[in-house]
Amino acid sequence: MTVVWNKVKLLLVDLDNTLCDSFHTLSKPQWTFVEKKLREKGWDDCADKMNENFGSQGFLKTLKSCGIEEYKIRYAIRQYDKADISKLELFHDAHHIMDLDIPTILITRGEPSLQKRKIKHLGIKKHFEEIVIVDTFGNKGEEFEKIRKKKGLKASEILVIGDRMEEEIAQGKRLGYPVVLVRRPGWPVKHIKLKPDISVRTLKTIARHLKR
Ligand SMILES: [Mg+2]
Repeated sequence: MTVVWNKVKLLLVDLDNTLCDSFHTLSKPQWTFVEKKLREKGWDDCADKMNENFGSQGFLKTLKSCGIEEYKIRYAIRQYDKADISKLELFHDAHHIMDLDIPTILITRGEPSLQKRKIKHLGIKKHFEEIVIVDTFGNKGEEFEKIRKKKGLKASEILVIGDRMEEEIAQGKRLGYPVVLVRRPGWPVKHIKLKPDISVRTLKTIARHLKR
C-alpha cells in the first residue's frame, strides 16, 4: 500500500522507542534491576537466559522465548514495572509529530501504571487527543479497530507509526492500515514477512509528508 499522505485523518503513534528513547535511557537499567532481583530469588538460570537475549526483542517476549515459567515471568514483570523512569528522554524529533495539526492518539502497550508514569514524566499528554494503554498481555490491533470504528474512519485514513515490526507494524498492516516503521539507532528491527509501507530514520520525514 502506498501512503496517501493528504488522506490521513488520524495518527496512531507508539511511545517506547518511537517517541522516547526507552532502549538506551530506560531498558538497560531496568533489565539490570530485574536481573538483580531474579538472582536474589536464586533464579540465576533465568537471569542468565534473560541477559543472553538482551535487546533482541521486548522484555516479555524475551522471557517467554527463554522458556521461563509463567510465575517467574510475572515476578520479573512486577520488578520491571517498579523501575526508576527519571532518566527517560524524548527523541529530539518527537515534537515534529506531536506538534502536527492532525488528531493524534498515543497507543502504548505495557503495565498501565508504568506507562502512565512515563507519560507524566515526559509531559506529553497535552499533545494527544487520547491516550490508550494496552495491557502488557494485550493486543494493539484490537484497539486500532475499536478506535477506527468509534471515529468512523476507513483504515486508509489512519496512519500507524511505530518501531516494532512484530507488533504495531504487523498488526496494522494485517488490518489494512498504512504503516510507518521508525528505525532507531542501536534498536534492532525484527524481520518478519510483512513489510512496512515506509521506513524512516527520523519522524521529521513523516511530518514533512503530512504538512504538504
Ligand atoms: Mg515501541
